[in-house]
Amino acid sequence: MLSVDPRPAEGVAVGVDIGGTKLAGGLIGADGSVLARDRVDTPAHDADAIVEAVLGVVERLTGACEPGTGDSAPRGVGVPVGVGAAGMIDLGGTVRYAPNLDWSGCQLGALLTRRLGVTVTVDNDGNAAAWGEYRCGAGRDTRASLVMLTVGTGVGGGLIHNGTLLRGAQGFGAEFGHMVIAEGGRRCPCGNTGCLEALASGTAIGITARERRESGGVPTDSPLHHASEPTGKSVTIAAHAGDEAARAVLAECGAWLGVGIASLVNALDPEMVVVGGGAMDAGELLLAPAREAAVQRLMGRSRRQAPPIVRAGLADDGGLVGAALLALEAGAGHPRPATRDPV
Ligand SMILES: [Zn+2]
Repeated sequence: MLSVDPRPAEGVAVGVDIGGTKLAGGLIGADGSVLARDRVDTPAHDADAIVEAVLGVVERLTGACEPGTGDSAPRGVGVPVGVGAAGMIDLGGTVRYAPNLDWSGCQLGALLTRRLGVTVTVDNDGNAAAWGEYRCGAGRDTRASLVMLTVGTGVGGGLIHNGTLLRGAQGFGAEFGHMVIAEGGRRCPCGNTGCLEALASGTAIGITARERRESGGVPTDSPLHHASEPTGKSVTIAAHAGDEAARAVLAECGAWLGVGIASLVNALDPEMVVVGGGAMDAGELLLAPAREAAVQRLMGRSRRQAPPIVRAGLADDGGLVGAALLALEAGAGHPRPATRDPV
């Protein structure tokens, strides 16, 4: 196992976060500061268009780049570039499977490296966010370990252990959202049943609200009773406005999140659990029940201290900050497992 040198690299790098709907980029300093931003819609159904969109973002952020003249012409971008993308990314930077983007098989790392003239590092977005939080976010004062969960449309994950971002044997870890925590439960987009993602994602919040309404569990004076299709966002807005039915939905999904966190803490004993993603707009309405459910399930809970379970410090920037820092550190000669070819 290679370890990443904890000393920060110097300079700047571009980080790009490719999500199912938005493609966000930033020019990132070595301390994680965002010096410039760019953002476009993700052309979700066209792999070539996604690659071109990334190139456009990188060029706008770095300014004085030579325009490309084709696949074989490096553009000489001049700074390291790191990408975080939703889906299963192998250690060679190829997208193996992505449920929300139509680009499985895209050799993203190789294509961008050829077009930009610098080595482009590519990681799963949850892994990139974990590194961002570990370096510069909520986990910046941890010594060497951290578990990250990104709760949005789905549930992503990332794991820092002994100061190293753990990607697994092929690069497909750490998909904590697909830990099965209720076998036979609600169907997950991945095909399994009872995954953490199926019970605690932003999507799951909307589904839980609908199911409660259909079973008569939502009073007629609740905004959820009249919403045509409750979503994680609409439930969160109603909950913040004081609606008890909406708060109960968040408490249920938060408790499932806590069940997943308990298993992670029991298995890995991290210094900290960081929760980010769009669903964290619900804040403590989701996190407090998660904390309570997690602590109840810790092995030997009366004889140990539970790790802090906290909200992400970088908000939506964790993925692009982490991706940039991974690229910066790789470019500075720091050893990085993702630069090795899979065995
Ligand atoms: Zn799943």
